[in-house]
Amino acid sequence: MTAQGYDVARVRADFPILATTVRGKRLAFLDTAASSQRPQAVIDAMAHYERTSHANVHRGVYELSQKATDAFEGARERIRRFLNAASVREIVFTRGTTESINLVAQSWGRRLGPGDEILITWMEHHANIVPWQMLCERTGAMLRVTPIDLRGELDVAAFEALLSPRTKLVAFTQISNSLGTVLPVERLLAAAKRVGALTLIDGAQAVAHQRIDVRALDCDFYVFSSHKLYGPTGLGVLYAREAVLADMPPWQGGGDMIRTVTFSGSTWTELPHRFEAGTPHISGAVGLATAIDYLESLGIDAVHAHEQRLLARATQALRAVPGLRIVGEAAHKAGVISFVLEDVHPHDLGTILDAEGVAVRTGHHCAMPVMDFFDVPATARASFGCYSDDADIDQLVTALGHAREVFG
Ligand code: PMP
Repeated sequence: MTAQGYDVARVRADFPILATTVRGKRLAFLDTAASSQRPQAVIDAMAHYERTSHANVHRGVYELSQKATDAFEGARERIRRFLNAASVREIVFTRGTTESINLVAQSWGRRLGPGDEILITWMEHHANIVPWQMLCERTGAMLRVTPIDLRGELDVAAFEALLSPRTKLVAFTQISNSLGTVLPVERLLAAAKRVGALTLIDGAQAVAHQRIDVRALDCDFYVFSSHKLYGPTGLGVLYAREAVLADMPPWQGGGDMIRTVTFSGSTWTELPHRFEAGTPHISGAVGLATAIDYLESLGIDAVHAHEQRLLARATQALRAVPGLRIVGEAAHKAGVISFVLEDVHPHDLGTILDAEGVAVRTGHHCAMPVMDFFDVPATARASFGCYSDDADIDQLVTALGHAREVFG
């Protein structure tokens, strides 16, 4: 129990996978930024749904189908409340952050043409770069990129200078997955609004680590993945302001998104179902709603404070490792630390750490432009979640010492 009353040992006991061993060693899971682990409550809720309530949603009059529909639509309402969205009509289920962004690019983006611009940043995940490149190729619109500096901070003055009445959409991450930088979201949103651009926030790295209020933010789109929020994979959310969503054409066609179908043409059903063609991930939605209940039972602010304490401790410990360089030293960071160790390729480092039970991600983290900017082929990245603890950091530091012995 910490001074703030955050009982990380109790939290860890909620996650069965943390009791497993890797190569006979205690598992130090430091890859939450790639995918978080699931608490027992989420595993149980999904199994309970499968055992007692499963049928296809929306189309059945029989009791079981109604039970499944209630569970699925109940999850949507839970997510609405979590984000403080105005209406469930603004909550679209997708397969994840990537699909949410592709939905916006392929549906809303259809209206763009030559002379229009989309503004992103240098530290975006590929999911917030490639869909816009594909869109620009199709429409003749132009993709603009805000530079960053060597600490991994966004150049906000350059961002403001790149904005113009040509800017139709500004899309940026709330927290960089490769550097840990927390972006000055409110300032960026205000600047985008001054030129009349719509705004999309990639919240993949933020939702599990800080309080989100889409109405307070006043953004047009907010996207995230369930699996980074202690929920299951294969599910994500697109929040879209209702007035914007209502004006967007459907993107995928099929069951559930139509009102009528004839061979001379089809008409569309109401929001948000118009954007949810096909049978959805029903048990996933139940799992995500339970994951939100779980996170809120810990208290998002308490989790945030815990992760910030770990970040400070780990940053200090890693700085003391000879030959180690942290990549990304922004003033305001989340629980993500990228680093390189002199004379050791990150992939070799990852393999050595794995032998010590330490799970860190090594590679380009789907942010190749960031790797190019810092002139490294890849980094190792340690990231924290609600269950991370001091022992994880100690195990990482000890394993880094072994790696230095092997390559020294
Ligand atoms: N954006 C960011 C900032 C991310 O960290 C990730 C996942 N690494 C994504 C987008 C893509 O998420 P997903 O693979 O769940 O669609």
